[in-house]
Amino acid sequence: MLFRILCKDEFRSLVGIFLESTEVIGPRKIDTGRDGKPVHQYLPVTSFAEIDLGYETTEIPAKTYFLPYKENLSTWRFSDDDWNQEISYRLQPRALIGLHACDINALLKLDKVMAREFYPSPYYISRRTNTFIVGIDHEPCVGGFCRSLGTDMVDRGFDLFLTDLGDRYFVAIDSDRGFTTLQRVAVREVTEQDTREYLAVRRKIASGFGPNLDVKQLPNLLDIEFESEVWNKWGSKCLSCGSCAMVCPTCYCYGVSEQVSMNFAEGAKVKSLYSCSLADFAQVAGGHNFRPKRESRLKYRYYHQHRGFVEAYDEPKCVGCGRCGRVCLAGINPPDIIRDMLAEEARI
Ligand code: SF4
Ligand code: SF4
Repeated sequence: MLFRILCKDEFRSLVGIFLESTEVIGPRKIDTGRDGKPVHQYLPVTSFAEIDLGYETTEIPAKTYFLPYKENLSTWRFSDDDWNQEISYRLQPRALIGLHACDINALLKLDKVMAREFYPSPYYISRRTNTFIVGIDHEPCVGGFCRSLGTDMVDRGFDLFLTDLGDRYFVAIDSDRGFTTLQRVAVREVTEQDTREYLAVRRKIASGFGPNLDVKQLPNLLDIEFESEVWNKWGSKCLSCGSCAMVCPTCYCYGVSEQVSMNFAEGAKVKSLYSCSLADFAQVAGGHNFRPKRESRLKYRYYHQHRGFVEAYDEPKCVGCGRCGRVCLAGINPPDIIRDMLAEEARI
């Protein structure tokens, strides 16, 4: 990886260059929450001033720019005794500015599923390939537990990654196009003083995290504690609303439906993201539901995050962003469930 120093005025110019030629998405303040804190979303911007790089988190993750909640996989139309099918992928370039390390790590996890060797998703890959990603370091956010999951730092999956040194950014470059893009503004080599300041900023960020959750034993523990009372305790509170999966940057489950016009002349195959917490998620033909109880659906969600994904990809699916805990009206928060599971282990 290469490193350079970019002063803040030059970064502003860089965003200006993006704005002239491509769609730019950045964290924008859209409201003030009940707690008085600003609410941010990743939204299209038309000027640098609209981007708030000091944001804590967003309600909706950046996955929507790679896995939209709803998209047409194909459309078809009958005409002249024949039919035409159209499949289109998003090819227009896009720049995503200001992604935090946990959200870039979330994209790397989605890559494992959506861009793997067998059955890759061309819809996802075309968006991922055509999106220029500028990440940025930040202070730990309230409710986030990314450090416990090793996702508070990232060393790939972006084009440029910024660490704020006051009047300038320490920039990590992880792609050819990142390097080429930086040639369009004034950058300089890193000095020893820059490195010292960078390491001091990293140490300060690391010291701001709360106590670590020990998730290493979780896959084994989940196997042993399949019938644990923990699932009844938390599952009985669950409203089965599905919000946790909708705001999760790594949840990708979906359904596909055929939508046909009233005159049967045209239609579309539509993909919609879905949630394993919803009552009919595991319902099959004939009406049988493999997970009819909310307790079993909540348990399944945690097994996928911390057991199944580990078995398939050697790492948990959760990045500890804390969004699901923040959005849950029932107060269900992953660190509380994980602590309860770890307490079960201590009792064994
Ligand atoms: S957001 Fe909370 S209440 Fe809704 S499905 Fe998820 S865990 Fe259940
Ligand atoms: S499960 Fe919750 S904390 Fe983990 S990545 Fe998804 S939204 Fe974030």
